[in-house]
Amino acid sequence: MGRGREKIEFDVLFVGGGPANLAGAIHLMQLATSKGIHLEVAMIEKGAEIGCHALSGAVLNPIALAELMPDYREKGCPIEVDVRGEELRFLTETSQYRVPFVPRYMKNRGFHIISLSRFVRWLAEIAEGLGVNIFPGFAGKEVRYASDRKTVIGIRTGDKGLGKDGRPRANFEPGIDILAKVTVLGEGAGGSLLREVSGALNIFSGKMPQTFETGIKEVIELPEGNYFLSSRGNVIHTFGYPLGLNTHGGGFIYQMKDNRVSVGFVVGLSYRDPMLDLYEEFMRFKRHPFAQRIISGGRVLEHGARTLTSSGYYSIPKLSVDGAVFVGTGASMLNAPALKGIHTSMKSGMLAAETMIEAFQKGDFTQDTLNCYQELIESTWLKEELYRGRNFAQTVSKEGLIKFFHLGAQYLTGGRGIIDKMPIAKDSDTLKSLRPEASPRKKVKAVYDDVLFVDKLTGVYLSKTQHREDQPSHLIIHDPKLCVEQCFRTYRCPCTRFCPGNVYELEIDENTDEKRLKVNPANCLHCKTCEIKDPYGNITWTCPEGGDGPKYTIV
Ligand code: SF4
Repeated sequence: MGRGREKIEFDVLFVGGGPANLAGAIHLMQLATSKGIHLEVAMIEKGAEIGCHALSGAVLNPIALAELMPDYREKGCPIEVDVRGEELRFLTETSQYRVPFVPRYMKNRGFHIISLSRFVRWLAEIAEGLGVNIFPGFAGKEVRYASDRKTVIGIRTGDKGLGKDGRPRANFEPGIDILAKVTVLGEGAGGSLLREVSGALNIFSGKMPQTFETGIKEVIELPEGNYFLSSRGNVIHTFGYPLGLNTHGGGFIYQMKDNRVSVGFVVGLSYRDPMLDLYEEFMRFKRHPFAQRIISGGRVLEHGARTLTSSGYYSIPKLSVDGAVFVGTGASMLNAPALKGIHTSMKSGMLAAETMIEAFQKGDFTQDTLNCYQELIESTWLKEELYRGRNFAQTVSKEGLIKFFHLGAQYLTGGRGIIDKMPIAKDSDTLKSLRPEASPRKKVKAVYDDVLFVDKLTGVYLSKTQHREDQPSHLIIHDPKLCVEQCFRTYRCPCTRFCPGNVYELEIDENTDEKRLKVNPANCLHCKTCEIKDPYGNITWTCPEGGDGPKYTIV
């Protein structure tokens, strides 16, 4: 199938249409124009359109955007509302307490609440206006290397039109090789090409493991005149119930325009209880009297889920190799204590752009020149911000109240704390095996009204997720027997609970007690939780056909 494959060449190829790559592409074109350098630049995005797979909180710290485009408001940046004030609430099962102060890194006043999906669409229009060729609906399937096996020369997009059996159908279109002098991987958390580069070139060697959080989020339309829409604190974060203090995570409610709020719940994937169901925790949060006071009478308009990389500074990989650089949250560019990754991702893309301009001026695309990107990060606010949060994710992943003591010490010492380089386990290693005497987690009363409380499948419907059914499964289960034997015995198949899309179902034959793990790849929200949290490394998430997956417009 390799023969006759089409090849296209560019100077720079951006893989992924998120904020890091879009800011990088815009900045690259700005710099190239100012220096009189002509560049052919392309960007591919696996979603059907730019923004289809973009989901985030999302409170935008505009620092990087203002550097990129000081007149962003005049240029029509789609801001939902500005942050008037923020509140931090501690929830118990039936009550709530307002924390009297908000940690400085969580202060958001003057920042903007955005829909990331809308925001990246707007950035894409600007990038196209500057000459970037954007190709949505193309998934990067594999990295292409030069004959030395260490210089990245581009990527191969996925084939389209394969049947479930992997054989070409009548409408088969082979993937194309998109080659470039520099390839920029900005796929977001858990990117499959970055994983491939990591395996081939060991870019995470000596780094702390990347750890993740999964967020489930909805945009809810509220009845007219809801008090929250004019309240002083229009950004609310919560902790405590329903996770308790041993599992990291919490809820958020942000005001949007047009009587809407974005409501979400984030769970640190370092959690230990294999019976924890991420979706049920989100429902518990929504049913809490505090959340109910705001959202009751509302209607869910859109729903989605995504993981983000929370481990921060100590898990940043080597950021360049010959012919490629790595940007955005996939490369750990997220400020976990501030709960923000958009501005840090954008800045990483912009610094990568500055390095690429230098590379084109020198005509040298080896790591010797591209390594300048790492040095630029070290000399900017990006390093300072990430460095201040360097022990945060490691600390909150721990059990017991001692972690609050460590957090306090870090708060007072610019992030250093008592143990600098606080150790952390991989998220796939933290589940505790089930003890027979362990009492199962109380199930949430599964009352769904299909309006404000929607079940998992309705959530998938509201994410507008679609996959062509007759294609090879993009979720590879390496050993199905392991799932129903070892994993069932030890953890009761936690994939059936951590997946927010109801992709994994355990079927048990009533007569024979035979078990089978049924996989519904068509429901997949592309959040990547399964590959990250699976305790046996038995699930690999690969890109389905380009254009498949969620079609977010406002989350
Ligand atoms: Fe997320 Fe994996 Fe479920 Fe898809 S199958 S929705 S990537 S957990």
